Amino acid sequence: MYDLPTLEPIRRYKSIAVLTSGGDAPGMNPAIRGVVRTALHHGIKVYGVQRGYSGLINGDIHVLSSKGVSNIVQKGGTFLKSARCSEFHQATIRANAASQLRKLGIEALIVIGGDGSLTGAHLFEEETGLPVIGIPGTIDNDIFGTDDTIGFDTAVNTALNAIDKIRDTADSHERYFLVEVMGRSSGFLAVHVGIAAGAEMIAVPEFAVDVEAISLQLATSKRKGLGSSGIIVVAEGNAPGLTNRIAEQMAHHGHTPYVSILGHIQRGGHPSGHDRVLASCLGAKAVEYLLAGYSDMMVGVNQGQVVDVPLDNLTRYRKGLDPELLKIALQLHK
Ligand code: ADP
Repeated sequence: MYDLPTLEPIRRYKSIAVLTSGGDAPGMNPAIRGVVRTALHHGIKVYGVQRGYSGLINGDIHVLSSKGVSNIVQKGGTFLKSARCSEFHQATIRANAASQLRKLGIEALIVIGGDGSLTGAHLFEEETGLPVIGIPGTIDNDIFGTDDTIGFDTAVNTALNAIDKIRDTADSHERYFLVEVMGRSSGFLAVHVGIAAGAEMIAVPEFAVDVEAISLQLATSKRKGLGSSGIIVVAEGNAPGLTNRIAEQMAHHGHTPYVSILGHIQRGGHPSGHDRVLASCLGAKAVEYLLAGYSDMMVGVNQGQVVDVPLDNLTRYRKGLDPELLKIALQLHK
């Protein structure tokens, strides 16, 4: 696991709130549990906000107890529910949301979510002065400033389970499969899944897909007797239907791959052991950072250590794919 900082409490809080926002990720539940139990340990009252920023705006906010977070550590999804909330993009709405918290005497907010949710959290603190701590929760692992996010490990393993099965059919029918995994703007999931599945090729949104090159490589593999079946992992990208279009274009080059779109199964399921420990630790440290006087930051992971990352950085910089990992992925192709 990761090295954890020791933090000295210097600030007192009576009440805080926690919410989950954006795309759900396996491990959000143990993260909530980590927040709640750590806060209660320090004598802080904890509120749960339902349905992300929507619940904040509507005042759908309830006290959480230690017992209330029992028996959730192993469950996928988020028992607080998650939602996208377009109104939260407006500063006036964010100001109203802050008054909902102040009405209940809530002095700080912990947000568990992806890039978008944490950007909203940063604006919320900047404009309203209510201290916010972010916890990275997304299967995409595309958040700047952290090497890992809650849900990523589980999603990689879920996709691998599916691909290992698909490979049996690919092998039996001597066919290639284009397997689409999630990742609208980043190929983290695709690269990890591709390496771990022993994929013959990986297509990521960071680079344009060259159907001609893919087709040529398949033909060469066949000619050299390296096999006539395999897996090509494709990140969904920002253009819906991308994988089906690649299959259609490959048909023009004489290949007829099957298409399998893994879709939402990648978001669900029991969190892996890794994600449960990560989520529990980040949940606990989020509260400890608050008590140590930090705010407007995310608890992240950097080179094996849990660290504080200014939320502002998430709005300024984009996380890039590790070129060494990509190099390895390419070298391991047939
Ligand atoms: P994720 O957090 O998984 O990346 P989204 O990008 O859909 O998911 O963001 C989730 C929610 O966070 C949005 O529906 C919105 O309420 C809030 N949000 C996202 N981006 C911003 C932003 N730039 N300003 C304010 N709120 C935002």
